[in-house]
Amino acid sequence: MNDTICAISTALGVGAISIIKISGNEAIEIVNKLFSEDIKNVPSHTIHYGYIKENDEIIDEVLVTVMRNPKSFTREDVVEINCHGGIATTNKVLELLLTNGCRMAEPGEFTKRAFLNGRINLMEAEAVMDLINGKTEEARKIAIKELNGTGTKLISNLREDLVKIISNIEVNIDYPEYNDIYEVTIKDIKEKIEYFNERLNKIISEYENGKILKDGINTVIVGRPNVGKSSILNRLLNDNKAIVTDIPGTTRDIVEGNISFDGILLNIIDTAGIRETEDVVEKIGVEKSLSKIDEADLVLIILNNNEELNDDDLQIIDKTKDKPSIIVINKNDLDSKIDTNLLKGRDIIYTNTIDINGMEPLKDKIREMFKLEEISKKDYNYITNTRQISKIKECINRIKDVKESLNNEMPLDIIEIDLREIWNILGEIIGESYSEELLDELFSKFCVGK
Ligand code: GDP
Repeated sequence: MNDTICAISTALGVGAISIIKISGNEAIEIVNKLFSEDIKNVPSHTIHYGYIKENDEIIDEVLVTVMRNPKSFTREDVVEINCHGGIATTNKVLELLLTNGCRMAEPGEFTKRAFLNGRINLMEAEAVMDLINGKTEEARKIAIKELNGTGTKLISNLREDLVKIISNIEVNIDYPEYNDIYEVTIKDIKEKIEYFNERLNKIISEYENGKILKDGINTVIVGRPNVGKSSILNRLLNDNKAIVTDIPGTTRDIVEGNISFDGILLNIIDTAGIRETEDVVEKIGVEKSLSKIDEADLVLIILNNNEELNDDDLQIIDKTKDKPSIIVINKNDLDSKIDTNLLKGRDIIYTNTIDINGMEPLKDKIREMFKLEEISKKDYNYITNTRQISKIKECINRIKDVKESLNNEMPLDIIEIDLREIWNILGEIIGESYSEELLDELFSKFCVGK
């Protein structure tokens, strides 16, 4: 961490300006060697006009910003060079920095340093990444809230409350002779643990909503050939603001589109017809369909109202029984030949792709299933990061052990060990404790220069 790193922070390509960022003990000294002006003793947070030179040759006319530690993103000395945006110019300036003592930054290394130097915690670092990668307005709102510490506060409060419970237990361990205190303490601890557990579970249930706001609903359309899958996808895409990402030629391929639906993204995939087949190309399509069902948040099973259910239909219906799914009986403008007794216990709606309002029942059902109105009105205090959520789930599992121990009247010091472990796991969320592997994995997902 003692070396000075540099990277191009703007997107690589031709643009009006490019920014090269340098961070570390020697940032100012190294730039000073290449810059026409003397910036060694200039005050922090000042901008300087001049030239980057190699020997006496002018390489570029630039603006140089100096930010001295600790008031910088990395809490180190940071210099930013605003160059003209050409690829050749930017690369030349970068090359000069590298030959004069800088090292090329790894992906996310500036943010990693910000974390290691205590400028931001791990949750906030992950929010930086979400902010960069966010695709919708809702995703942006969630990320900026987390960056401003909403999630951190939530986790810190949980940890503080846990410390209170632990100290309660310690009083008891230290003064075991008071039997009545023991009774009172156990009752009290049980209540507090219950409340603690509820708060963890609330985070998980809100995560589902947050995930929808952030990533949208991954929806898969399945059904036999000719039931109207492509027509339904096209109708939904045409009725709504759609970005069709990929439409390969044949109906055997998977076709995708993103629809903005009540402010929430519906990422729809139309799959090849699922049926037993010997045809190799079609078989690949079928396998893809089945794997897509596993990954989906919502499966739309399309049936043809005008045909009796056959084994293929029943197989699809069975395969999706444990998934959030809607049985869409399409072509309701034609006579019904479907025996709905075979669909008992499932959500069924009728549609057609002919009437202008033919898709409304489907849209209403999705709104109802995912409580879209409620979600989009809510505050954006969500934890949406999968790593963080897996830690919360770990805590919930540990709490189960604690509850069991309490019920079995296990010694209090055993319960205390579990609670301390939960405290540690919560600490891992904000990065109070972490492993090198975790940091490497996490920051490698960033772009270079961030
Ligand atoms: P896919 O193979 O499941 O993708 O089915 P298509 O979308 O290609 O539709 C198959 C046929 O059914 C086409 O001729 C469509 O025009 C027709 N079709 C689709 N939806 C409806 C509907 O709601 N009513 C009627 N009568 N025909 C439809």
